[in-house]
Amino acid sequence: MDEREKGIGLEDLRELRELGRKAEGEAILDVAVVGGGTMGRGIAQTLAARGINVILVEKDEPAAERSRQLLEEDLDREIERWALTPSDKRAILARIRIGTDLEELERYSVVIEAITENLEAKQDLFRRLDSICPPKTVFVTNTSTLSITEIAAATRREDRVIGMHFLNPVPKVPLVEIVRGLKTSDETFQIAKRLAERLGKTAVEVYEYPGYVTTRIIVTMLNEAMHVLMEGVATAEGIDTAMKLGFNFPIGPLALADMMGLDEVMTWMETLFRELGDMKYRPCPLLRKLVRAGHLGRKTGRGFFIYDESGKKIGEAR
Ligand code: NAD
Repeated sequence: MDEREKGIGLEDLRELRELGRKAEGEAILDVAVVGGGTMGRGIAQTLAARGINVILVEKDEPAAERSRQLLEEDLDREIERWALTPSDKRAILARIRIGTDLEELERYSVVIEAITENLEAKQDLFRRLDSICPPKTVFVTNTSTLSITEIAAATRREDRVIGMHFLNPVPKVPLVEIVRGLKTSDETFQIAKRLAERLGKTAVEVYEYPGYVTTRIIVTMLNEAMHVLMEGVATAEGIDTAMKLGFNFPIGPLALADMMGLDEVMTWMETLFRELGDMKYRPCPLLRKLVRAGHLGRKTGRGFFIYDESGKKIGEAR
């Protein structure tokens, strides 16, 4: 035993180690987020609200501008609901810088990816990041259904790649699924776990398997609600009201699908269908029809319901 440790009980030692671990967790002061869509903005907002400086990188200047605008609107909506004060908004915005240059990420120790759910696009991005960031930088992906191991294979640091599956809306949902790839190290897992704690999220460790826990279970329910609508059993409003009141859900399945983004929901189902080959993951034809028409839910103002400029539901789409 170290001289300094003599006279200290086992419990004290445990506590000291715990404090050391916490201090290390608190050392994460800067995080990069790539992709400023629904999830990237939510993740950036959550990090900034916990005192972490964020650089949010979009694919080009128009997308960055859109992300900047939407982030302001997201925060204004929170102020309207009394969930934030105007000074919280200023403090959050002061900690988020939105840009387009990936090269700027060379000094970051954690990069969180939240771009479109497409394996090739994610692999391309991580391949580029691998040559920009130092070898110790941890790469986190927010994928809902893709394989962490396959994403990690595009890098030369497969041990430092991990999934953190945040849920929408990120600032409000107190859960994150932490997904290890086959080669993810324990050290990387601990870093992700500490980051989750720092963000006030409960972390559930899940093993790599398509759809993890949350996506796999929820998409089958959303798809069933779409079939019920397509078969004319009830209106969209009726289905959502029945499920909300019947099961004490805070939001109905069709409004939830609209909030997630119908294109995202369809992509997740297609991945699950391809990977698991089970008919229960076949996307409902009504979902395909809406996605083809560009009615992607709240983000385009129309999905199963119609939304105003501020994202408030104003009626049912017919
Ligand atoms: P989204 O379409 O709202 O946003 C994706 C953003 O990524 C867009 O703004 C796009 O411009 C940007 N982008 C695309 N390629 C890029 C690149 N190479 N560099 C920088 N930016 C790029 O999608 P989303 O709903 O935010 O989903 C993002 C990820 O999070 C997906 O992997 C999705 O599966 C996952 N996810 C989504 C939800 C949800 O409810 N929507 C929940 C959990 C996880």
